[in-house]
Amino acid sequence: MANQEEAMFNLFEFGIDFFEALRAIDVAIVERAARERCRDCGGPLHRGDYPRKPRGGEIATMAEGFDRRFSLCCGREGCRHRATPPSVRFLGRRVYIGAVVIAAAAVGITAMVTAAAVRAIGVPARTMRRWLRWWRGPFTTSVTFAELSARLVPAPERRRLPISLLERLAEDRTAAVAKLLGWLAPLTTTSCPDGSRWVRAVM
Ligand SMILES: [Zn+2]
Repeated sequence: MANQEEAMFNLFEFGIDFFEALRAIDVAIVERAARERCRDCGGPLHRGDYPRKPRGGEIATMAEGFDRRFSLCCGREGCRHRATPPSVRFLGRRVYIGAVVIAAAAVGITAMVTAAAVRAIGVPARTMRRWLRWWRGPFTTSVTFAELSARLVPAPERRRLPISLLERLAEDRTAAVAKLLGWLAPLTTTSCPDGSRWVRAVM
């Protein structure tokens, strides 16, 4: 089944190195975040990661180091405030890894989702349609999209998101996905609203 979707998907060439690099970025981000103090009480921040079992079909099987969402917790008794820094691996509470959310939406734009594409990314067609609605809806009202639009002139076409963004961020599709994950990282947390500075410092 050498169809267009598969060919499209193969362009991403996500491999173990790609996921290792993303993991290293998340490690660097949480290390920077841990140097600061609790924003509620000024107490020390300790690691308190969340276990995750990321989904994403054949792609996710390569993302072996994605079993924890790095997070911090205030060490002061009675506070225990959570600070979960931005991540380039997980997009918010979605169970799928971020790279899959981008790639699936990019594939979903070009064609109807085939059984092969669904198998590769392990995402049901209904979920994929929901993500496409997110890319063209809530995402376009985010600070991240405003910043990207200001930087990329002319602004990326909304009805072709996220592929219109990927095309502009890098020649190489996989590199473009990594860059876009960096831009999306501040949207992956609500407990560190100013966390984009850590992402900028390490990418
Ligand atoms: Zn605290």
